[in-house]
Amino acid sequence: MRRIVVLSGGIGGARFLRGLLRAAPEAEVTVIGNTGDDIHLFGLKVCPDLDTVMYTLGGGIHEEQGWGRADESFSVKEELAAYGVGPEWFGLGDRDFATHIVRTQMMGAGYPLSAVTEALCQRWNPGVRLLPMTDDRVETHVLVDDEREGRRAVHFQEYWVRMRAGVPARAVVPVGADQSKPAPGVLEAIAEADVVIFPPSNPVVSVGTILAVPGIREAIADAGVPVVGLSPIVGDAPVRGMADKVLAAVGVEATASAVALHYGSGLLDAWLVDTVDAASVAGVEAAGIRCRAVPLLMKDTEATAEMARAALTIATEVDDV
Ligand code: GDP
Ligand code: CA
Repeated sequence: MRRIVVLSGGIGGARFLRGLLRAAPEAEVTVIGNTGDDIHLFGLKVCPDLDTVMYTLGGGIHEEQGWGRADESFSVKEELAAYGVGPEWFGLGDRDFATHIVRTQMMGAGYPLSAVTEALCQRWNPGVRLLPMTDDRVETHVLVDDEREGRRAVHFQEYWVRMRAGVPARAVVPVGADQSKPAPGVLEAIAEADVVIFPPSNPVVSVGTILAVPGIREAIADAGVPVVGLSPIVGDAPVRGMADKVLAAVGVEATASAVALHYGSGLLDAWLVDTVDAASVAGVEAAGIRCRAVPLLMKDTEATAEMARAALTIATEVDDV
C-alpha cells in the first residue's frame, strides 16, 4: 500500500492525514481536497479545506480551533469592520489573509488553483501531494427555509458559519459541479493508487462534493483497488460539527452504518466504525461492505495513526479476496 489517495475535507481529513503520515511514513500520499467550501471574501479567494490540510500538515494550524493559523491576530478584520465592510461572521486573521492574497494574485495572473496550491505548499511542505478536486468553480449551496425570507439558497459558509446550521437544510447543491472537470493529476492518482481512503470527513459536503465532480466517483469505482472509509459519526452523532444537519438534507440518518450504506458497496469495500458502534458491524457487512469496530477518536497523533493502521489493514484484507 505505497500509493495512497485520500479524499479530504477540512478538520476531520487533515487530522486523519497527520496520523496516516505517521502510520505510513514511506507512502506517497495524494490528497484530493474539497473546494466546494471555497468563497470569495473581500475580493479574495478563500479555500478553507485546502488551507486546513496545508496548515495542519505544515505545522501552522491553530490546534485547538482546528482551522486558521496559530498565533493569529485580527487587525485587518478590525480595520475592515471600522469601514463597515463585512462579512463579520467569517474569521479571517492577518496571517491567513496573506495566504488568500497570494492565491488571488496568482489566480489573477492566470494560474489555475492546482498550480497555486502547489506553490503555496512549497512553503508548508505538508508531506503529501495536495490537489484541489477541480480547477473549476464549484460552490456548495444549501437550500433553507428562512422564517422571514422563505425558501432560499445560501452559500455553504453562510449556512455553516453564520447560521451555524441552525435551520433545517432542505437540500445541498454543489453548484457548478456537473460542469467541472477533475484537476490535473486527480484521475491519474486514483488510477495509480494502491488504496483509496475516505477519512472521517463530512460525507455530504466534503467527500460527497468531491465525488460530485464528474469522473471522480467512476475512477474510484473502476480503479480495482480497495476503497476504505472511516466513520465521522460516532455514537449516532458527529464527533465535531453539524454533519447530521446536512445528512438529514440528503435523507441519511446520522449513524455510522447509514453513512456506509449511503456510500454503498458499489464504491466502498471496507468501513471502520467506532467501538461504541460495534453493534452496527453486522448490518454493514450484510450490505457487502467489510466492517470492523476500532477506536475512532483522533485524541492525538498516535491514536489517529492507529486508525490509519486499521484502515490499511482492512484494505489489505479486502484486496486479497
Ligand atoms: P470540515 O471541512 O472542517 O468540516 O472537515 P471534514 O469534512 O474533513 O470533517 C468533519 C467531520 O470530521 C465531522 O463530521 C466530524 O464528525 C468528523 N470528526 C472530527 N473529529 C473526529 C474524530 O476524532 N473522530 C472521528 N471519527 N470523526 C471526527
Ligand atoms: Ca469543509
